[in-house]
Amino acid sequence: MRWSYTIARIAGTEIKVHVTFLLIVGWWAFIGYSQGGPTAALTSALALFALFGCILLHEFGHILMARRYGVRTPDVILLPIGGVARLERIPDVPRQELLIALAGPAVTLGIILILLAVLRLAGSQAEVTQLSEQQPFLAQLVSVNLYLLLFNLIPAFPMDGGRVLRALLASRLGLLRGTRIAATLGQSLAVLGGLYGITRPEPLLVLVAFFVFLGANAEAATVETRLAGQGLQVSQMMVTDFRTVPVHATLNQAVELLLSGEQREFPVLDNYGRTEGILTRDNLIRGLSQMGPNSTVAEAMTTGVPTVQPTLGFQEALDRLRASRLPALPVVDVAGVLVGLLTLDNITDLLLVRRARG
Ligand SMILES: [Zn+2]
Repeated sequence: MRWSYTIARIAGTEIKVHVTFLLIVGWWAFIGYSQGGPTAALTSALALFALFGCILLHEFGHILMARRYGVRTPDVILLPIGGVARLERIPDVPRQELLIALAGPAVTLGIILILLAVLRLAGSQAEVTQLSEQQPFLAQLVSVNLYLLLFNLIPAFPMDGGRVLRALLASRLGLLRGTRIAATLGQSLAVLGGLYGITRPEPLLVLVAFFVFLGANAEAATVETRLAGQGLQVSQMMVTDFRTVPVHATLNQAVELLLSGEQREFPVLDNYGRTEGILTRDNLIRGLSQMGPNSTVAEAMTTGVPTVQPTLGFQEALDRLRASRLPALPVVDVAGVLVGLLTLDNITDLLLVRRARG
């Protein structure tokens, strides 16, 4: 997702914050300020940091449960609607997805129970079902976590309730139909919520509805792509008619290659035919403007490019291509010979053809 920034890295998972989440922090502090001056603004901001911690704990409930089933979580992103842990893949067994989806709310429930116990031990009679600034700080935190828990159980992507629903549907109807039904329900709820938010007017609700709509869409698309490519391997997905560029070629020579055809990314080969890196159009343009046309491809190319084997499966290859943030990856066989080029454009074309053929 764009407009998000990595702020930390915990146990192999990047913690990212979306700019809209920061807007909420500012908005909350502003409300505190307008009601009680700088002290209230500070208290509001602190409360939000505590909430931030609770959301992270919730997400790590998902992450640790996913890890139990061998699913890694490359990143978790904090949105105004809470956190979204981006799992590397959906587990094949619906029961596993169900448990992963429930682990987050279970952590939130645990936080609520612990905070309640602390409050009661301290002799507080605070009312936690109503969020109010008159309540002690811990009671407010309980209220917010209660909202978080209930909100997450709404049966719509990307909330946990949506995943629970999908897992339940998928165990009977299969992953594709289960996802479609859950996504449609999520989008309908988002539209209704959005319309309600506009008429109230309640800008936060509109923002939340917007993210829910996008989340449902993305989830459905992910699953459809995955199923469309099922059974494919890289050798069937790769471009085999392509040109390469020698590592000692000048950027001028590379420009000729770029302009003479449709190809945008060129594998760079050394004198022995080994893949040294990849020269993307961006590499070429930047190299031209910074180092001039007579500098070599070696100086401008991207190095340390991961390669893929022709026998690699569809989803893994797609994940590796996306993770590389490169437009293309070289396909190299067991003997180390470059045999193809894996590009997103070509994969898209292939999936369109496969769908058209049914
Ligand atoms: Zn969750």
